[in-house]
Amino acid sequence: MTAKIQLRGVTKEFDVRPTGGNKRSTQVFTALSDINLDVRSGEFLVVVGPSGCGKSTLLDLLAGLTTPSAGEILIDGEPVNGPGLDRAIVFQQYALFPWRTARANVEFGLEAQGKARTTRSERKARAQEYLSLVGLNGFEGRYPHELSGGMKQRVAIARSLAYEPDILLLDEPFAALDAQTRESLQDELLRIWRHTGKTIVFITHGIDEAVFLGQRVVVMTSRPGRIRSIIDIPDFDASPDEDIRSGVEFVKYRHEIWKLMREEPSLDGPKRSRGALTPSLESNGHHLIEEWQSQDDDLVRARR
Ligand code: ADP
Ligand code: MG
Repeated sequence: MTAKIQLRGVTKEFDVRPTGGNKRSTQVFTALSDINLDVRSGEFLVVVGPSGCGKSTLLDLLAGLTTPSAGEILIDGEPVNGPGLDRAIVFQQYALFPWRTARANVEFGLEAQGKARTTRSERKARAQEYLSLVGLNGFEGRYPHELSGGMKQRVAIARSLAYEPDILLLDEPFAALDAQTRESLQDELLRIWRHTGKTIVFITHGIDEAVFLGQRVVVMTSRPGRIRSIIDIPDFDASPDEDIRSGVEFVKYRHEIWKLMREEPSLDGPKRSRGALTPSLESNGHHLIEEWQSQDDDLVRARR
């Protein structure tokens, strides 16, 4: 079966102005390099990586908000040509209309589909259904400023789901929430995913969040953003009152990903291996220079 989403050699470069120097000249900055990835239909995939490694760039590409500099992205075997109603995005910032109630915000997603496709009362009923799915029964008439951060994000999720996209793309949606609210929204999102069978690509810089949510976790490295490793995460069995996040298995996966992110190949210089190199410094630091050069070679290879 073809994967729901396929990324083939996806590279994204930006033209940037160098700091100082000639302001009119531009340099090419590689934000993502040679990303190859298949996302299965109905999968919950998490992408984790440090800030600046290209996670949002990757999500923007999937959403069709930008195009790859090289490579291709296919959804259901078809190239992505811009945004589509088959994909919904939830951002870190709630992006709700302040002048619309929770229900009217959710209805907006349906209006975007084209008013001809649904009647007003259908939209109202559908909005109600999805607000109830995200646990907001009784809050339909509230305006965003009357809702907590967690509730606003629930509205944003309901709005994304209401027009029934196949794919839900989430870019650090819970990063601005307090720890307790974040955990309850993580539980909710898993419940919604099981209930709806959507394909989910969830971006985070939080390792715990990645292990808790993902069926697979893609670990990224930065400069340029590349896939370091893809880890299969098992279903952690725990009774409802057990804390999954403290379980032995959970901690093991958490640690594995933490190590992968920590051991990120440094391009800042040979800091990581200085200990091992110290004896050879006697020979005029030649080994140190070789180490630098081999890292430069890696960099050159990475940019190709
Ligand atoms: P993340 O979401 O992982 O924090 P981003 O995808 O936002 O990272 O950014 C990855 C890198 O690409 C960063 O170094 C960022 O400065 C750079 N970048 C992102 N968008 C642009 C752009 N439009 N122009 C130039 N550089 C960009
Ligand atoms: Mg980001």
